[in-house]
Amino acid sequence: MAEKILMKTPLVEMDGDEMTRIIWKMIKDILLTPYIDLKTEYYDLGLENRNATDDQVTVDSANATKKYGVAVKCATITPNAQRMEEYDLKQMWKSPNGTIRAILDGTVFRAPIIVKGITPFIPTWTKPITIARHAYGDVYKNTEMIVKQGSKAELVVTDENGNETRSLIHNFNGSDGIIQGLHNLDNSIASFAKACFNYALDIKQDVWFATKDTISKQYDHRFKDIFNEIYENEYKAKFEEAGIEYFYTLIDDAVARVVRSNGGYIWACKNYDGDVMSDMVATAYGSLGMMTSVLVSPDGVYEYEAAHGTVTRHYYKHLKGEETSTNSVATLFAWTGALRKRGELDNLPELMKFADDLEKATIQTIEDGVMTGDLVLLSNLENKRKVNTEEFLQEINNRLVQIRK
Ligand code: NAP
Ligand code: MG
Repeated sequence: MAEKILMKTPLVEMDGDEMTRIIWKMIKDILLTPYIDLKTEYYDLGLENRNATDDQVTVDSANATKKYGVAVKCATITPNAQRMEEYDLKQMWKSPNGTIRAILDGTVFRAPIIVKGITPFIPTWTKPITIARHAYGDVYKNTEMIVKQGSKAELVVTDENGNETRSLIHNFNGSDGIIQGLHNLDNSIASFAKACFNYALDIKQDVWFATKDTISKQYDHRFKDIFNEIYENEYKAKFEEAGIEYFYTLIDDAVARVVRSNGGYIWACKNYDGDVMSDMVATAYGSLGMMTSVLVSPDGVYEYEAAHGTVTRHYYKHLKGEETSTNSVATLFAWTGALRKRGELDNLPELMKFADDLEKATIQTIEDGVMTGDLVLLSNLENKRKVNTEEFLQEINNRLVQIRK
């Protein structure tokens, strides 16, 4: 066998939970360590270790990501009441993704992996649509109230000198009702815009952004203005050089255009739009097992992961000794994404080539008709064969060996 590919800077490796933790180890054993002298700084974000370290391990892993610039993360359990009992937890620890995102100030980009034989519900979507969701503020950090008939509701802002500015929301004369207070921050919107523009330059795709600025003349308009200002001042020349575009429109027009499009761009969404549209787009492309996710910080730090969770139902089957057929593609592409980025930053063309080859081998496996159960249900290939979790990775390796010859 040829010499192993050497790395320079370590990758930050964040291990996780349940079925994805099983897959994590298989990917490393079958597809990575035989070929790469894998250099990682390992953080065990499995729920047991988060509990044992009072979740310090999550914070440490995020800080290491800041230091080294690239991380790869396994799916992790976000505890709820049932998990408190199952794992005998000291506390209902927060979502690791939330903690990491808060430290990195990042934006999440989700994109499907497209293969022949699996046609999206919108068949013209032949290229991936990458959704970027602004994960701060709006209705997710709101204040709401139920208002009794006869009440008057106002917006009141008190400045640092104690001066009040008031604006009437509504006089509730004829009926009880509801009100809601939302906010966002210029610097959060600016970070979001920069993350989108940087990522667009990284993957050489256009950016689409949309709000409802015709109706929301101050709130949504502020998003439009900040995006536009940053684009004009900092990115326009770079975009022209890269041959890509920034396109702004109204959200309803954007939805209509997205449906008619072929994909192949980044769709930057306000928080709520991103929540709704990412589920719509993911479902339309097929399986959760084929959806990748990368967190990009405004200063260019990258954390790669699968968009799906720990696939608990399959894990319980695995624990009972039953065979599983869990799709490892999104987790595998988290690894290839991270290795390619590491290779790019450290000028290691061999490592980048390996990432390309491994992705090619994976897609070829599925296009040859060898796939996990979730894809068998979706694929329109004539000859297809369902394999178990480990066989699927072995089949990829068989093809990887051929590609690398
Ligand atoms: P999930 O793990 O994404 O799985 C939901 C269902 O989707 C599975 O039961 C399975 O359907 C299908 N599925 C998802 N990924 C698949 C794959 N790779 N291969 C085949 N089928 C796949 O979501 P969940 O069951 O709601 O959540 C489980 C745990 O994951 C929770 O503790 C949650 O907190 C955590 N979670 C973590 C992250 C993250 O770390 N980023 C994200 C989401 C959820 P069938 O059962 O029908 O086969
Ligand atoms: Mg959602």
